[in-house]
Amino acid sequence: MTVIVGASAAGLACAEALRRKGYTGPLTLVGAESHLPYDRPPLSKQVLSGDWEPARARLRSAEALSALDATLVLGDPAVHLDVPERAVHTASGRILKADNIVLATGLRPLTLAGQPTLRTVDDALTLRKRLLGCTNAVVVGDGVLGAEIAATARRMGVAVTLAGPQSAPMALQLGPRVASELASLHAAQGVSLRLGAAVTEVSEDGVLLETGEVLPADVVVVAFGSAPATDWLQDSGLTLGNGIVCDSRLRAAEGIYACGDVARWHHETLGRMVRLENRTNATEQGIAVAANILGADEAFLPVPYFWTDQFSAKIHVHGFVSPDATVVEGSASEGRFVVRYHRDGAVTGVLGWNMPKQARQHRAEISLRCPAGVAASTPGAA
Ligand SMILES: Cc1cc2nc3c(=O)[nH]c(=O)nc-3n(C[C@H](O)[C@H](O)[C@H](O)COP(=O)(O)OP(=O)(O)OC[C@H]3O[C@@H](n4cnc5c(N)ncnc54)[C@H](O)[C@@H]3O)c2cc1C
Repeated sequence: MTVIVGASAAGLACAEALRRKGYTGPLTLVGAESHLPYDRPPLSKQVLSGDWEPARARLRSAEALSALDATLVLGDPAVHLDVPERAVHTASGRILKADNIVLATGLRPLTLAGQPTLRTVDDALTLRKRLLGCTNAVVVGDGVLGAEIAATARRMGVAVTLAGPQSAPMALQLGPRVASELASLHAAQGVSLRLGAAVTEVSEDGVLLETGEVLPADVVVVAFGSAPATDWLQDSGLTLGNGIVCDSRLRAAEGIYACGDVARWHHETLGRMVRLENRTNATEQGIAVAANILGADEAFLPVPYFWTDQFSAKIHVHGFVSPDATVVEGSASEGRFVVRYHRDGAVTGVLGWNMPKQARQHRAEISLRCPAGVAASTPGAA
């Protein structure tokens, strides 16, 4: 028996890989949400904008899920993990004992009471409704999610201000050079940027910055971070620390594994603990856990990769960014380029701006044996 907690990208990838690799035992997926498994990247893009009906974000059809021959327990969050008994307890009182348990519970967003944020499909629909009826929206948070929401809201015709402490949107995730291109793109599309100043208060009048400026807002969207969804594991005895702490095989304890946004594991090539918050990692890590459950005993050694779409820009990042960035193909004036990031003579990462294929071709140049400081500057790498 295998129980997977978290019925989303990582959990589903693990379930499917188990079946593909020949696992014939009973399989149960436990999910806190009542929806069939769906994808999150479209939420801040096509679902928020209204280009897609929410159902289009589903990860699999009902037929494909039924072919998986798994029991789906949805709308019933896990509330306790008994490690010695290897059992998952759910809110409704189910006790699911298993030979192997996979923890794939993702993140919970940090919120401010009464203000919308965006993590689930229900959040996306609520936020869409709020944006459609609003005059001024302020997005608090200049990371990936905040920048994407600002871009989509602007495309919906909303007057949007993006506020946050960095010098440019996604400066941490793109490095200063590319982030300043992104800032120019947002400004050219009419997003009002109020960056480089911390938000000190959100009130009925709007958003107060540390500079004393008040940004009027009838909708304030909170996008200033999230935390691994591990609250329910506090009394489990597992080691928790910015995620579920795992060895290089993604094992948190005997017969217990973690994957996706919630997993913090020892990356042997980097020689440090890493946690990634991106879609590709969720799939790759789910597949790696399935292989290890079936005896592969393989270390998980990915080159991190994420993408974001904002206005006309499709940005793809492989590896780790650093302040030392060189354009190696195309140019900003052409609206398409590839940047190579360096540190101490080594290539740490590659970014494509509307050049996904070319960026992929440069990926082989990346050396992951880079200093820890570089690794810490990548999205969700902690
Ligand atoms: C709006 C948005 C846009 C994004 N866009 C991009 C993008 O453009 N590119 C990119 O690379 N990445 C993007 N990401 C990140 C990407 O979606 C995540 O990295 C990915 O979803 C992680 O998958 P996961 O399965 O680990 O976690 P999640 O997708 O968060 O799934 C975890 C699941 O576990 C459930 N759960 C939580 N606690 C419990 C519990 N106690 N019991 C049972 N179930 C539980 C949750 O309800 C959830 O369904 C985006 C994320 C968001 C939110």
